[in-house]
Amino acid sequence: MHETKIPFGERDGILFRAHEVENGLRCGCVCPGCKQPLNAANNGEKVVPHFRHSKSNDCFDGFREGVRRAAVALIAKHKQLMLPALIETVRVATQDGRLLEEKVELQPVMITADNVERFVDRGSLRGHAVLHQSTRQLIVRIKLSTRMEHERYRQLEALEHSSMEIDLHHLALEQINDPAKFEHAVLHDSVNRLWIRSIRGERLAANALQKLQSVADEINAQSQLEQAAREAAEQARQIELANEKAELQRALEAHRAKQLQMAAKQSASAQDNTTQGRAELIAGTMLRAIQAWGGRAVECTACYLLSPPDSRFCLYCDATTGKVNHVSLSPDIPSTIHKRMRCSAKPTMSMKTVPRLLLRPDLKASAGVPITPVLPEDALQ
Ligand SMILES: [Zn+2]
Ligand SMILES: [Zn+2]
Repeated sequence: MHETKIPFGERDGILFRAHEVENGLRCGCVCPGCKQPLNAANNGEKVVPHFRHSKSNDCFDGFREGVRRAAVALIAKHKQLMLPALIETVRVATQDGRLLEEKVELQPVMITADNVERFVDRGSLRGHAVLHQSTRQLIVRIKLSTRMEHERYRQLEALEHSSMEIDLHHLALEQINDPAKFEHAVLHDSVNRLWIRSIRGERLAANALQKLQSVADEINAQSQLEQAAREAAEQARQIELANEKAELQRALEAHRAKQLQMAAKQSASAQDNTTQGRAELIAGTMLRAIQAWGGRAVECTACYLLSPPDSRFCLYCDATTGKVNHVSLSPDIPSTIHKRMRCSAKPTMSMKTVPRLLLRPDLKASAGVPITPVLPEDALQ
């Protein structure tokens, strides 16, 4: 539709709107695109004034060329232009994966140029207007199609100057024909323009980035310190564990040596290594715990014999699977011990795990406390 209704006709290098000239061919205007004669349509009550090619042709530039030249002429005349807004977020990631953010913002602002150049070629690229302000340049493109212009953006971003685009492709004929509305759209409307490259915005973003980076550096340094402290603590813990293990090993070896030394003094007894004999020995250490150790003892998980409560290892066996657990014995044990042993699986399990004791419990005498004889011969039958 835009292509057939042409808003501006050209006469002697000057652009006219259709209502500013005589009707029809008498307007004496040519198309700003193809330079072919135009018909002005400005008579009808309901028709928005416009031009048409007097002979139909394949020109599609009449609308674009006219509006673009009229827009650039306004910028050149007023030397003023509203700059687009800029909102950008700068982000820096820390080593521990946090994302630091800072917003960079430029408000739309009206600038006044020292002078304006029209249609300046920069290599393969045409700046429709170039505004100069002291040593700075701002390249302006007037967009009049719906096409995306990625390649043009890329070329403009590679230039050392700021560049922006004013999008006028949506303007209706009525808006273009109204000089005040058209001027607003070209010079003042902050909504229809955007930055292609903003040198000032880039500087602000670089500053924000630098600031964020130094915050990130501090966070990273702090977390490295924390990491080093964690590693040192873990290393210390490993050393402590190794020391504990070595100490346990030394204590166990000393214990074994002592067991063997004591065992050498014992005379062999057959009853140590029968289930009944083992039951008597277990019962004997239980009574010993009641009488000599205040009811407290440690029980071996391998042979089930009780050792004094402060023992780290079983006094009687050398089962590597055996551990000692603290137990408390009830004072009524002596009266029920026979029944307990009859029902207990402990003597059998003891014999199975530890067929031969390293050292037989000495139930006859200990630290001057006499042990009463424990079990009648047939008690554990
Ligand atoms: Zn044309
Ligand atoms: Zn044991």
